Amino acid sequence: MDSIHICTGCGAKNRVPHNKAGLKPKCGKCGVSLVGAPVAGRVNPLGDRDFGARVELSSQPVLVDFYSPTCGPCQMLAPVLDSLAARFSGRLLIYKINTAIEQATAARLGIRGVPTLIFFKHGGEVDRVVGAIPEDDLARRIQAFLG
Ligand SMILES: [Zn+2]
Repeated sequence: MDSIHICTGCGAKNRVPHNKAGLKPKCGKCGVSLVGAPVAGRVNPLGDRDFGARVELSSQPVLVDFYSPTCGPCQMLAPVLDSLAARFSGRLLIYKINTAIEQATAARLGIRGVPTLIFFKHGGEVDRVVGAIPEDDLARRIQAFLG
């Protein structure tokens, strides 16, 4: 199966065949490496080290799920985000940050509880949802955010 990688350099969508994923693919448009690039249509794991490049410099709207693997509401929210990542594929990039391991970004953004969802446009925070939220409600927040 192919997967669609979003170039972090220019935002172009690159189709990478599954059997070529190990060959260090590059963006067909600008030549930036696609290794570690986010995949469209799914929730991509993210760490503190890559937050700046992936979120603050993103040319696409971004939603980040700050979660902890031991938190019940976070576990309930995970399949909701998977579903919405597929539904809004190509329009919204969704990342998840495990705050049990990656704590610097969560601390910097003043996150006090998980799950916390933060919407970013052009690197700036636009909206924030604290606590688990039903899929329909979250879909409406995403629609409003994307405009
Ligand atoms: Zn590119």
